[in-house]
Amino acid sequence: MNRGAAVKNFEADSGRCADGGAVHRAYISIGSNIGDRAANCERAILALDSASGVRVAARSRLFLSEPVGYADQRWFVNAVVKVETTFSPFALLGVLQGLERDAGRKRSGIRFGPRTLDLDIVIFDDMIIDSDGLEIPHPRMHERRFVLGPLCDIDPRVVHPVLKKTARQLYDALSEDEQKILVREQ
Ligand code: ADP
Ligand code: MG
Repeated sequence: MNRGAAVKNFEADSGRCADGGAVHRAYISIGSNIGDRAANCERAILALDSASGVRVAARSRLFLSEPVGYADQRWFVNAVVKVETTFSPFALLGVLQGLERDAGRKRSGIRFGPRTLDLDIVIFDDMIIDSDGLEIPHPRMHERRFVLGPLCDIDPRVVHPVLKKTARQLYDALSEDEQKILVREQ
């Protein structure tokens, strides 16, 4: 899982970008606030790395974050991983949704409500996608401390392809009295 390690062999699949199987760089945010939250996140990182066509190149530490949007729920455990993938963004989303289902995620109907596992694509190369089922960069990433904190933990120089600001600049621009996060004891 170290940066710079050889990219594992990718199986041929129909979800590739139309670029001859080039390797793309994506950042994925991971969150859980039901059950063993840390184990759910760690399992998701291992499962992502084992998925064909995806390799985890770097990961953040685990963070504990105050819920945002719907306060009456447990704090979340969050992390961000950097992956290398031959998949298109849509195929990668399919992989993430499969892992959410495997983790037993049930849709409660409450927007931003409790979940066993949430996997979101935050950034995918410099792509900008605005479709019904997929928006990249993630439309709320720049206002979420629980995304920007772990992202800075991996690489504070990552640039938001629309706002043209680094993860560190976006993090520093957040209002200080909102959205507490803590590095979780590892
Ligand atoms: P949220 O993560 O916003 O709390 P969900 O995990 O329930 O909510 O996702 C709702 C829908 O968001 C998914 O069905 C997916 O199609 C869509 N979606 C749009 N953009 C993204 C993205 N960048 N990453 C993951 N899901 C996304
Ligand atoms: Mg999601």
